[in-house]
Amino acid sequence: MSELMYGSTRGNGGKVTASQAILKGLAEDGGLYVPEKLPKLSVSFEELAGLSYQETAYVVMKQFLTDFTEEELRSCIARAYDDKFDTEEIVPIKEAAGVYYLELFHGATIAFKDMALSILPHLMVTAAKKNQVRNEIVVLTATSGDTGKAALAGFADVPGTRIIVFYPKDGVSPIQEKQMVTQKGKNTFVVGIHGNFDDAQNGVKKIFRDKELSEELKEHGFQFSSANSINIGRLVPQVVYYAYAYGQLLKKGAVSSGEEINVTVPTGNFGNILAAYYAKLLGVPIGKLICASNENKVLYDFFNTGAYDRNRKFILTSSPSMDILISSNLERLVYKIAGDDAVKDASLMKELSEKGRYEITDEMRKELADFYGAFADEKETAAEIKNLYEKTGYVIDTHTAVASCVYGKYRAETGDGKKALIASTASPYKFTRSVMKAIDEKYNDMEDFALVDVLSQISGVPVPPAIEEIRTAPVLHKTVCEASAMKDIVKQFLEI
Ligand SMILES: *Cc1c(COP(=O)(O)O)cnc(C)c1O
Repeated sequence: MSELMYGSTRGNGGKVTASQAILKGLAEDGGLYVPEKLPKLSVSFEELAGLSYQETAYVVMKQFLTDFTEEELRSCIARAYDDKFDTEEIVPIKEAAGVYYLELFHGATIAFKDMALSILPHLMVTAAKKNQVRNEIVVLTATSGDTGKAALAGFADVPGTRIIVFYPKDGVSPIQEKQMVTQKGKNTFVVGIHGNFDDAQNGVKKIFRDKELSEELKEHGFQFSSANSINIGRLVPQVVYYAYAYGQLLKKGAVSSGEEINVTVPTGNFGNILAAYYAKLLGVPIGKLICASNENKVLYDFFNTGAYDRNRKFILTSSPSMDILISSNLERLVYKIAGDDAVKDASLMKELSEKGRYEITDEMRKELADFYGAFADEKETAAEIKNLYEKTGYVIDTHTAVASCVYGKYRAETGDGKKALIASTASPYKFTRSVMKAIDEKYNDMEDFALVDVLSQISGVPVPPAIEEIRTAPVLHKTVCEASAMKDIVKQFLEI
């Protein structure tokens, strides 16, 4: 098989192998790496139905990461998807009210980011070895809450790596913050910034583009990489669970072979839903890709008008991991619907960075027929949690509730009765306060960890170890800075 190469969505920076793309994170021209050609699944649906999660991961990932040997890939997979997950299935599917919830939150930090971030460190260290990289890899990450902890857990004490995480000081849930600032591991560093997620993400992007800093780093034996969802080493492992979910639905007899399902994804940076789209292109029978937004509904507007416009008020919602106005991974879709036209993509992204807005052509809009965008406001999200709980006893988190509510709107509007899979992206325990308050206002007076115990009683789901751990864990990271000081903070941590 010939090697699958990756190029930048903005056209410059040449072609690189998968392992090089994983090491670099972002292409040098500021674009994102995309495969030259999207691969196809090499197994039948019936075969898929017989595979474990780890085996599915191998058959999917080998199509994308062609310069990894079988042994390398299988070893990365085995180290990632092990008993860090609290269930052998890795991603169980729960049926409630006639809808299938794909629970992507059974890893170390109880949010779906674990799906990719438990394997990324292994892919990165393997990629470094393959490319004779001797520098220590410094992973730089901006987080809206969940990536940070999942990346810290993934990289903590992995030899040859360091990790620095920036999060918006007042933009994450108390449990999210506690999870991050209690992180152990000598190679970890967590910093709160005064600003929102976009400020943190822009700060990180600026540091990546800083040529002078990159030279300085090299002199001291370091090089940057990214654990953000723009890295193909995160995107590719996320394609896996859509293939696996389809196999499991087939195995259960919930669908017949080849029968299309609709997939709804609670969306922020557009990574998870892009993975679902790649799964569809890979050959997994997916009908509509339903993009669910919270009140920061940039993507809803994009799908409905063709204009992407970040010039609006940033709203803090109860689904903070979706509080995003610049969905970085959307660039990969824009590139695709432009007919793999890097010049077009680069000019739209230039407009976005200069004016905060761009508009796609009618031709490009036609290519979006597989997508449907809608949003749920705060009231609707809370009502979705309460209604589903009262009807079925199943408790979902705020992000999943946005998706669940949006799916209901889609179904009502279109009458499309295809089987529905909802990406369930966080454990309700990660957002206990919002979840319990949605179920009954009276819980609002209770203290965080007391609420955790009530949630366990009403849902019948035991408190996950990830939550037990932070009840008493000491705070180890106390640095807070302005967004403008991020570069200095990085230099300080690396002592350069
Ligand atoms: C990150 C995250 C999302 C958004 O996923 P994207 O890939 O950024 O679109 C949704 N829900 C939860 C719980 C998350 O952590």
